[in-house]
Amino acid sequence: MQPINLTSALAAGKDLVAKVQTASGVDVKACYQCGKCSAGCPVAFAMDYTPRQVMRMLQLGLAEETIKSRAIWLCAQCETCSARCPRSLEPAKVMEALRIEAKRAGFEADDEIATFNEKFLRSVASNGRVFEAGLIVGYNMATVQPLKDAGVAPSMLAKGKLKLFPSKIRGRDVINRMFTKAEKMEADNK
Ligand code: SF4
Ligand code: SF4
Repeated sequence: MQPINLTSALAAGKDLVAKVQTASGVDVKACYQCGKCSAGCPVAFAMDYTPRQVMRMLQLGLAEETIKSRAIWLCAQCETCSARCPRSLEPAKVMEALRIEAKRAGFEADDEIATFNEKFLRSVASNGRVFEAGLIVGYNMATVQPLKDAGVAPSMLAKGKLKLFPSKIRGRDVINRMFTKAEKMEADNK
């Protein structure tokens, strides 16, 4: 975890917290820090700040630090945190709002995360769903670690957890329209 300069972070963070709360519809003060969101988050192990910590940082006014974090780009928007929150808060929406504010402030995902996202979306665009084996091979090649997951592949294949060829869904034209619309929205916002 990175050290935080409290004085400057607090001064800059106040407006940002208000924007994130408005955009997400989540009152971060209502979080009582039980940690159920972090316990269920499938990518918390790789985050610099867990969802619970992100909520706490926003309560403290440390929004500037959250938009510089890796956590917001690693969030897969699976919504497990939102489903499990006993206060009916939606940390997933908070993560999304933070990503939007991060982009506005000129921050981007680091190269590793951006590469993964790009490979993931390309797989969904061509198959209508993610093709895991293709995603892993593509990502490992792009990040120059071609043998990284080679050791687990045989047992996953044997157990039917990994397929050698993609299965394409019907109605890929709908998916393609979604991608086209998203690309247009992105271009219009530049
Ligand atoms: S599950 Fe809800 S109340 Fe508990 S720490 Fe996460 S956001 Fe806060
Ligand atoms: S939505 Fe994001 S933060 Fe919430 S559990 Fe899923 S990956 Fe974790």
